[in-house]
Order: sequence, then structure tokens, then C-alpha cells
Amino acid sequence: MRKIFEFIDSCEDLAVELQTELTKRPALSPSVGGEGELDKCLFLEDWLRKHGIDNLERYDAPDPNAKGGVRPNLIASVAGKKAAPCFWIMSHLDVVPAGEAALWNTDPWTAVKKDGRIAGRGVEDDQQGIVSSILAALAFVKLKIQPEYTIKLLFIADEECGSAFGIDWLLKNKRSLFKDGDLVLVPDGGDPAGETIEIAEKTLIWLKAHTKGSQAHAAHPEHGRNACLAGADLILRLRKGLMEKFSARDNLFEPDYSTVEPTKKEANVPNINTIPGDDVFYVDIRALPCYTKREIFDEAERIKHGVEREYGVEIELSIVEGHESQSTSADSPIVKMLSAACKQVLGVKTRLVGIGGNTVGAFLRDEGIDTVVWSTVDCSLHQPNEYCIIKNILSDAKVMAHIAAQK
Ligand SMILES: [Zn+2]
Repeated sequence: MRKIFEFIDSCEDLAVELQTELTKRPALSPSVGGEGELDKCLFLEDWLRKHGIDNLERYDAPDPNAKGGVRPNLIASVAGKKAAPCFWIMSHLDVVPAGEAALWNTDPWTAVKKDGRIAGRGVEDDQQGIVSSILAALAFVKLKIQPEYTIKLLFIADEECGSAFGIDWLLKNKRSLFKDGDLVLVPDGGDPAGETIEIAEKTLIWLKAHTKGSQAHAAHPEHGRNACLAGADLILRLRKGLMEKFSARDNLFEPDYSTVEPTKKEANVPNINTIPGDDVFYVDIRALPCYTKREIFDEAERIKHGVEREYGVEIELSIVEGHESQSTSADSPIVKMLSAACKQVLGVKTRLVGIGGNTVGAFLRDEGIDTVVWSTVDCSLHQPNEYCIIKNILSDAKVMAHIAAQK
């Protein structure tokens, strides 16, 4: 390990070079006005080959709106001593738009190195993961040391816009790439000390409530059925009722309870003196994973009937988006190996966490593949002046190399 760590420590310039080249190639999804990931992927393929990582496979998801008509997913392998399982490190090629230009101190698409940091769109999310995983693999290749586990660097498309052309597509079309017992690390999220390992997420439901009453003059409410009023009551009843019924606590999560938050509201009547006959609002529900989408929706339906009776309205509930995912067990090998690596390399005692929102990890967990999300990041992602700390790229690479080398 000493040699490997020394090699990684000597890679600072290489890390900056890679970040600079990657940042030059904005891999924006066509759905946000970009061309996709092809240019960035072709550069990466070329760079990896030049540096001796030449076992590459590409799986292109067809997308007529993207450059070349494809969204590329690239795998780079370094053979290990053990035939199985493989150690996957999955990072994503795409980035989010720069956002408001005036808020940036430097050009978002030009990586700028200063004070031990690199600034630019994508340098943290998720190029830090891309670069640190490459350095980990490169150490074995350059030093001609065979890792214990076969390292599979997986660079996916379309993480920021739903993964339909990325990991979701890969699992639907190339499921056999992944074997039982494979270990997956997703360096796309974490904390500044590298101490949290994410293994679970809450059940997500985006609920739409469409209330239909009847319109009337505001001076004569008795002639109408106020959909806004009924909807407002439904908001309060849903929040109280669901949180009371699904009241479990789980300290893996922050907050440790299920949340029910009304969010978006559609416009109803344009004027103040009309009672609306129609009302639409949405609720963002993030329940602990011990609860299913079905049981939460059924309870929401039950609550809805009470409001319908009281106000004489009709309410249609629907799930706009919903997802429940498996958790990775706290005892799974990848959790233990990552904890051991963090302790050895960073001197950090890790703790397990669950999160409120939907990550790419869920796609893999749903297939029964143990997956952890971890990296050492300041969480400047998606913000203007996104940056990464160069030291973190190198130390994360060491943690990854340590996992690949564990007996
Ligand atoms: Zn990301």
C-alpha cells in the first residue's frame, strides 16, 4: 500500500490536468439544452488508453437528441486476483448547467486552480469521483501491482436528469454486467471529513391532489363548493394524518422521521372575488423505508374521503413520482471494507446514514447490489463557483485503492 499511496500522492498535476480537460467538455443533458456526454466520454477513453488503462467497454444508450445519437456509458477494467466479486466505482459524466453567469467568479467551463482547490462546473459533481477513481486504478496499472479485486470504473451518463440513459438503462439492457455479490462505491455525495457512508434512502412520493368543487361569486359561497378551502383543509389533514400514522423513528436518517410537506400549488382563479371550483396542489412525502408507497397512498385516500364528505367536493389523488428502494445492509462487505479503508487512510471513524432523496444508488440496490455512496466533499455541487479540494481527490483515491487491495 505504501508504494500505491506514494504514487497517488505524486499525481496532483495529473489530477489537475484531468479536471481541466473534463471541465472543458460540458456534458449537459439534451433536456437542459446540451449535447450529452459523448465528447467527454471520447476524451476519457483516449486518455485512459494513453495511460495504460486499455480494457474499455462502451455501452451507448440511444438518444436521438444527443450528439452522435447516443448517451455513452463507459467501463474501464483492471483485472484483480480474485475472479469475483468485482469492485465497481461508479461516477457520472454529465454535469448540471452553470446557472446564473454573474454569480461565478471565474468561467464555469475553465477549471481554475487556486489555494489547493479547483473551481469550475462539475469539478466536484462528479469529476472528483471520476478523477479519484482513475488515480486509484492507475496506481495498480503503473506500478504493475495486481489488485485483489477486479476494479471496474463505471462512468455513466444522465445521472442529473433521471438516469434513463445511464444506470437505469444499463441495468435494464446489460444487467449481466453486474454479478451477485459485486461491491459498488458511488463517490457522488458525502461530507467534508469523509465520515458518512450512505446506505439507504427514504421512500419518495410526489402526490398530486386535484379538488373539484364548483365556482361561485365570493359574496355567495352557499352557491358554490370552494375547492381552495377543501384543498387547504386536505393539506393540513394529510400532513397531520400521515405523520401520525407513519410515525416511526430511525436515527440512520436526518431528520429521523417521515416528512410530509405541501409544496407546489397550481394557479386557480385569476381574481379575488371568485370562489374557485378547481384546485391543485402537490405534496412531497419522504417516508422511512419501513413504509411502502402503497400503504401511504391508501391512507392518503382514506383522509381524502373525509374532506370530500365535509365539503361536498370530489378529490382525485395521484402519484406523480414515487420510489421505494432497498437499503444496503450495515453488515455488507462493501460497508465494512469502506469503513476499514477510511479508518486506515483518513483516520476517520465512519457512520452510516440514510438520506431523504433519490440517488443513483437506489437503482443498484433495487437489483440487490450492495451500494454505498461516499466521498470527501464540501458539497459545493450545483452551486456557482463549484470547487473541489485537490487533497480530497488524492485521499479518496487512496481509500478506493485500499478497498481494491483488501484481502
Ligand atoms: Zn452527482
